Amino acid sequence: MKKKVIIIGGGASGLTAAIWAARSGSSVTVIEHTSRVGKKLLSTGNGRCNLTNSRMDSDCFFCSEPDFPMEVIRQFGWKDTLRWFSSMGILCRSRMETYYYPMSDQASSVLEVLCLECERLGVEIRTNCTTEKIHREGKKGQPLFTLATDQGKLSGEALILACGSKAAPNTGSDGSGYDLARAMGHGIIKPLPALVQLRCQGSHYKSLGGIRTEARLSLYINGELVRQEAGELQLTDYGISGIPVFQLSRFAARALDERKRVQVQIDFLPFMDREESRVFLKKRTEEFSSRNMGDLLLGVLHKKLALVLLKAGGISPELPAGQLTQGQRERLLRLLKEYEALVSSANPFANAQVASGGVDVSQVNPQTMESRLVPGLYFAGEILDVDGICGGYNLQWAWATGRIAGTQAAQRGKKH
Ligand SMILES: Cc1cc2nc3c(=O)[nH]c(=O)nc-3n(C[C@H](O)[C@H](O)[C@H](O)COP(=O)(O)OP(=O)(O)OC[C@H]3O[C@@H](n4cnc5c(N)ncnc54)[C@H](O)[C@@H]3O)c2cc1C
Repeated sequence: MKKKVIIIGGGASGLTAAIWAARSGSSVTVIEHTSRVGKKLLSTGNGRCNLTNSRMDSDCFFCSEPDFPMEVIRQFGWKDTLRWFSSMGILCRSRMETYYYPMSDQASSVLEVLCLECERLGVEIRTNCTTEKIHREGKKGQPLFTLATDQGKLSGEALILACGSKAAPNTGSDGSGYDLARAMGHGIIKPLPALVQLRCQGSHYKSLGGIRTEARLSLYINGELVRQEAGELQLTDYGISGIPVFQLSRFAARALDERKRVQVQIDFLPFMDREESRVFLKKRTEEFSSRNMGDLLLGVLHKKLALVLLKAGGISPELPAGQLTQGQRERLLRLLKEYEALVSSANPFANAQVASGGVDVSQVNPQTMESRLVPGLYFAGEILDVDGICGGYNLQWAWATGRIAGTQAAQRGKKH
């Protein structure tokens, strides 16, 4: 008789686990508590699904156990992901050299193909199904999980928790997986929003909403430089957003949660160092000495942003540039190169792409994704205390963990 693998969560990692468990000969049931599987997958990469990245290093993932993510990724890397999708008919192409997307540019095509493969393999998918309780019995080598759900009981020799995190709860990823893991004895590192916008103090952001500009950002926590990122900064009416902000946000959110002071220093002239910027500003005031200060940076900086910086420096926009004092010029230089944004909070989970924190990986075997506490219990995807930077890393994590958990859960069933 076929061994039975139950998977809770029909997202990227759960569907991957289902496919690999079924390919390994198990009978598989996926329990999804929303009306359809893969909702979050549909919104990835702005609907285009950035499904992996060919730059796959340890600095692309964060975890309380820093070696854990790459121990997993080494078993199923980006080339394996491309090969696997290609075998199911999804051809991929790279953008910006290392970021991979399906050639269709449609996240929906990735989800459809995963669903077709599940169907081909006879995976049972139960939607609108809520797990009320998990009961584990059986001897050490022969566990048996019995789930009480609102659609009746079901049992299996292996159970995979692939419930996602708390990020983007409208997609079904509502944190209920943490409760299931906790009920099985697992520790949870406090989940916090990551890859998310940062809210900053100051009413002037209201006039900056919608501005995009290249910038270099330096994150300071309690006055100490923690991390730097560069790229397109998006100013919003409440603070800062854009890829470089997302990359910093996991550190900012955790520091704020620990009641630390969080500042982002913004360099609005990232193409010049400080001395070059000083020379540039001096030359500019000489060259356009009859222009008003409000017009001095036209063509260099968004006009609204320039006006906000002038106001912060106490410089009248009506002042002729030729009359700018050295002290005023130094103040403006400082605002252009080291603008201080004091962060008051990270946006909530509703706006976050992923969560930092999750199931404590010290209780999970990276070779098998099996719990070290509960034999027969496996984990896959974002439910774990691993988060990746922007660029296809979180989905790579979902594919890799799904592949390992699915295969191992099926093999465990076979061995006993
Ligand atoms: C807007 C947005 C864009 C993104 N873009 C990218 C991108 O381009 N590239 C990238 O790598 N990553 C991206 N991500 C992150 C990526 O989507 C996630 O990391 C990935 O989907 C996680 O997969 P998962 O299977 O662990 O969780 P999910 O995809 O969240 O799936 C979890 C599933 O489990 C279900 N579930 C939860 N609890 C239960 C329960 N108790 N019982 C039954 N079912 C349950 C949920 O309804 C859901 O269907 C993006 C995320 C968002 C929100």
